[in-house]
Amino acid sequence: MRYIHGFPRIGEQRELKKALENYWNKNINRDELQKTAKELRIRHWNYQKDAGIDYISSNDFSFYDLMIDTIVMMGAEPARYRDIEDSFERYFAMARGDSKHKALAMTKWLNTNYHYFVPEIEPGQKFSPNTEKIVSEYTEAKENGIKTKINLIGPVTFLDFARGTKGNDPLDELESAVEIYAEILRTISRLDKNITVQFDEPALVKDPSKKMLKALESAYSKLSNIAGNIDIFVSTYFEHANEAVDVLVNTDIKGIGLDFVYGPKNLDSVEKIAKSGKLLIAGVVDGRNIWVSDIDGKVEFLNKLPIEKEQVIVSSSCSLLHVPYTLRYEEKMDKNVKSWLSFALEKLDELRIIDKLYRGETLGIDEEPYLKNRKVNKTRKSSVQIHSLSVKERLESLTYTQKERQMPAPQRLKIQHEVLKYPILPTTTIGSFPQTAEVRKLRKDFKEGAIGEKEYKSKIKEFIDYCVKVQEEAGLDVLVHGEFERNDMVEYFGEMLEGVTFSQNGWVQSYGSRCVKPPIIFGDISRPKPMTVEWITYAQSRTEKIMKGMLTGPVTMLNWSFVRDDLPKETVYKQMALAIADEVADLQDAGIKIIQVDEAAFKEGYPLRSENRAQYERVAVEAFKISTAVAKPETQIHTHMCYSDFNDIMPTIDAMDADVITIETARNGNRLLEAFKNYNYQKEVGAGVYDIHSPRIPSVEELEKEIADRLSVFPASKLWVNPDCGLKTRKWEEVIPSLENMVKATRNIRAKIVTL
Ligand code: GLN
Ligand code: ZN
Repeated sequence: MRYIHGFPRIGEQRELKKALENYWNKNINRDELQKTAKELRIRHWNYQKDAGIDYISSNDFSFYDLMIDTIVMMGAEPARYRDIEDSFERYFAMARGDSKHKALAMTKWLNTNYHYFVPEIEPGQKFSPNTEKIVSEYTEAKENGIKTKINLIGPVTFLDFARGTKGNDPLDELESAVEIYAEILRTISRLDKNITVQFDEPALVKDPSKKMLKALESAYSKLSNIAGNIDIFVSTYFEHANEAVDVLVNTDIKGIGLDFVYGPKNLDSVEKIAKSGKLLIAGVVDGRNIWVSDIDGKVEFLNKLPIEKEQVIVSSSCSLLHVPYTLRYEEKMDKNVKSWLSFALEKLDELRIIDKLYRGETLGIDEEPYLKNRKVNKTRKSSVQIHSLSVKERLESLTYTQKERQMPAPQRLKIQHEVLKYPILPTTTIGSFPQTAEVRKLRKDFKEGAIGEKEYKSKIKEFIDYCVKVQEEAGLDVLVHGEFERNDMVEYFGEMLEGVTFSQNGWVQSYGSRCVKPPIIFGDISRPKPMTVEWITYAQSRTEKIMKGMLTGPVTMLNWSFVRDDLPKETVYKQMALAIADEVADLQDAGIKIIQVDEAAFKEGYPLRSENRAQYERVAVEAFKISTAVAKPETQIHTHMCYSDFNDIMPTIDAMDADVITIETARNGNRLLEAFKNYNYQKEVGAGVYDIHSPRIPSVEELEKEIADRLSVFPASKLWVNPDCGLKTRKWEEVIPSLENMVKATRNIRAKIVTL
């Protein structure tokens, strides 16, 4: 039996994205949007059916996000949306907000780059079941000759991922939520003679608390006994779920899904499942990375599992939502690299072949991927395209001076102050300036060959000139070039590195209609030539002030890419770090005195299990340090992190050894400051003074107060003044007065400090 946890829904040509955006822009009506959605669902079901998948999901489609769908299913729309009568409009208001309604908060789905919307649960929350979507998708599939399992986000995960509106724990509402799930199951039980329901419970893979495990027990003891004709599978992924298995084997559910790719410790649970007589949904085909499976290896792994074959269902490790659709539109990609990859459709075939071999079935003549697969995995191992001797040697011979800066931070900072001579409370920005339609068009024209390199460069330089002028007029102390040449902070660098490639059509849903095309790190990484030096030195040549060079750090580069799986990740981090170090060295040699190495994705890359944290921290810190160790004592290294909870990672932040860290503090009501308050941080900090997500222009008065607040945590000698994050999503007419006000407020505060 072959099982897929869920399928991507955005469409292989991003049809759903386009239809949604057309609907929002009123170019198509609701019926046309529904029609596209229906076509996609049917197409996706048929793909799976044709590939011989037995367990195909319904209710894995969504117009925006499955968590919002679950909010609707539970009748748990927050009160502030209740005035919107039309349910379709209400749905999109929760997702995107409108002129009268703020959208729900959005956050990352565990450690993926998919974002879900956060349910809001009141104390004593009232729920009421809404099975419209479940029923209609199930029926639609059935009418098209496909019997589906029904996917639901399970009650424990739904509540654990929710936010209590009054400081309450949403999990306290478990009992009434389970009542609703039970009613939903009763409705489902009337749909067919026998039905399988998959409950996704990934929350259980992150160090589950006793309370969660108790909730799990009470929920599934009840739900598994609602209707005799429903088989319940509880599915987990991304890590091991051993504590959850201990609970679930004592309930009457039918099967448990475990991820053996990202949760090798799940092996400890297999015997228990075997004994319980339940089915094991064995996640062996990587559902979130894009490399061809080692089919022989997977079959061998399955064969060794201490469980009867009849009890095993062969599965993807998680929903295929996290990988692109198919390689069949990749026309430009290097042929060899392409042969090493497997996107969603290709994974379906792998899964079938693994299952057939595991069961001792003969392969059909059209199933030669199996034979090809053996070859592919061999060529990948020995390909010169992947393996660079010089990169390897360089890594092996890393010396102490390439890993650590050569002077402790307090002494470095002293020298930097002498060289850089910036005032107290220095003002700066995080790097990007408005990415206007004009800027984007310029890059597009260049990419498509509509304009030549000379014209492109001179136009980018005009944007830089303007950006420098704006910053000088506003009176900022440390300037930036504005990042106009960059489409994206990871893609820009990925495109220039050896060992990294891009697909043409490898889109993955990030949230709603938004998709990303992550870089593919397939080989040893190196930097053939400088990537930013021309732009930054040009910008420096236009001003007497200090120009800050701007790079993306190794941890963020990897966390937002598909990373090769044939090397330890630690090695890939280090290779990336050395490539960035080369750029730091060149910027420094070109006279750039401050270099910022952004690590926006540092915190979100944390492992789901605390047992793996120390290892991640060690590797990530080491990579960051390798990328910056080349900086001389007088070269100041900045890093930047977007909103992250630092409370539990202050020693790690400290260990990164950046001279200055800029962080996002304004947006979240300064909660971050607490982390620094309780930690004796010796280096300098730019604690963001205004939220860049809003078009609002902060007043001088308000900014003075924000700065004063930060001065209660940091001494004036260690505090920088800057916005929360980059300004690329803002308009010039918002940015200019905001920065002017920021500088005015800083000057007012400086005057007060000096007179004290
Ligand atoms: N330097 C980048 C910018 O300003 C940082 C972006 C980020 O933190 N996400 O846009
Ligand atoms: Zn940021």
